Amino acid sequence: MNRSTKKFDVAVIGGGPAGMLAAGRAAELGAKVVLLEKNSTLGKKLLLTGNGRCNLTQIDCDVKEFIEKLGKNGKFLFSALSAFGPNEIIEFFAQNNLPAKIEKNGRVFPVSDSAKNVLLTIVNYLEKNDVKIITDAKVLGFVFAKNKISGVRLVKKTISADKIILCTGGKAFPITGSTGDGYAWSKELGHTVIAPTPALAPVKIQEMWVRDLQGLSLQEAKISLWQNEKKQCVFQGELIFTHFGLSGPLIINASKIINTLLRNGSVIIELELFPELTVSELDKKLILAFRENNKKDIKNYFKEMLSQKILNLILKLTKIDPDKKLNFLTKKERRSIVMLLKSLKFTVAEVMGFEQAMITSGGVALKEIDPKTMRSKIIENLYFAGEVLDLDGPTGGYNLQICWSTGHLAGESAAKII
Ligand SMILES: Cc1cc2nc3c(=O)[nH]c(=O)nc-3n(C[C@H](O)[C@H](O)[C@H](O)COP(=O)(O)OP(=O)(O)OC[C@H]3O[C@@H](n4cnc5c(N)ncnc54)[C@H](O)[C@@H]3O)c2cc1C
Repeated sequence: MNRSTKKFDVAVIGGGPAGMLAAGRAAELGAKVVLLEKNSTLGKKLLLTGNGRCNLTQIDCDVKEFIEKLGKNGKFLFSALSAFGPNEIIEFFAQNNLPAKIEKNGRVFPVSDSAKNVLLTIVNYLEKNDVKIITDAKVLGFVFAKNKISGVRLVKKTISADKIILCTGGKAFPITGSTGDGYAWSKELGHTVIAPTPALAPVKIQEMWVRDLQGLSLQEAKISLWQNEKKQCVFQGELIFTHFGLSGPLIINASKIINTLLRNGSVIIELELFPELTVSELDKKLILAFRENNKKDIKNYFKEMLSQKILNLILKLTKIDPDKKLNFLTKKERRSIVMLLKSLKFTVAEVMGFEQAMITSGGVALKEIDPKTMRSKIIENLYFAGEVLDLDGPTGGYNLQICWSTGHLAGESAAKII
């Protein structure tokens, strides 16, 4: 039986970071708020963030630099970020007894290193402000009347509310509940949805020998992306080898561009193991070193220079006998080692899909949303916040900050004109 329940000022759909902040802020300003979450608990994805430590935000840049990091859509965030940016979310958590600390490259984490503490802090904030939290509440759609949403349809009942804030997230990591439901409703309501694609994802590599490097991590690796024999761009950072290919912050941040390049043909990732030396400098260095160590065999000489896994791979690819003494190494063999050290090439098979991606690129088109309020320009009582929007950033706390800023603004705007 479908029956309507009591009316709320604001109904927030989706209990992720954006939805929780929107609900809490609207309630703090006096609105009667209901938060609807289809999982049995709130913030399932939030608990996974930062490997369970939650990289809350990013403090190493001002508003302008933050916006630049988000690419062409970044300027949409200007009002929301200026009103409630990294300093404000750090202050919010501090006031709610969760102090934060700054780590390398401006990444901010709770001092407790616990995403669970972050979630508990926000849930306390919701309870303190009397937000009605309904879990196991899968929203199916809306009741629509006179260009306004009058109700939110659940399986067994309809909830009526004056304002709706849509915070259903994207399609990345669907086991957490983010299955892209908000995109379909937005389209039905007349909004444009920019095709959602997986972003911040690891990359599968064609060459099977990449598996030999599984588990290896290079802290300051340098890679170049190549297409049609033209260098497209360069990335630097931590690279991690997996059983299927490449991962780690370096690859995850490059994955968006790799995906774009793949639309035009195959992509090669070139890893430089000695970026500070040119080919001829490295060759000269090895000529000298081989002369001085001519009695050593190749496997022992390179042990000090390279990790065992890389060394084994280079010997495998060059087919050089590991016990060969350095003074018996031919010029051709030496040159083939130099070429691999300067340019180890991986052919991209694919960027991994939504199952493994950290975020979704694409989403509800920003031109149809007022950046000063997060209100829809099409449906007057509908607001958006978080990853459902066509807005995303690199790793380092940018994506959660998008949620905090847009969630806070949407909650405030929806509560204000009651
Ligand atoms: C493994 C991993 C690690 C990450 N680490 C970081 C990090 O350290 N720092 C960072 O900045 N970002 C990180 N991110 C990204 C960040 O988690 C997301 O950007 C953020 O969670 C998006 O928040 P959201 O509220 O918009 O959506 P979500 O967190 O996806 O929440 C949406 C909620 O809506 C609910 N929902 C969906 N459909 C319905 C429906 N029909 N009815 C009711 N409820 C519904 C879902 O169940 C879900 O709980 C990470 C992501 C992943 C996957």
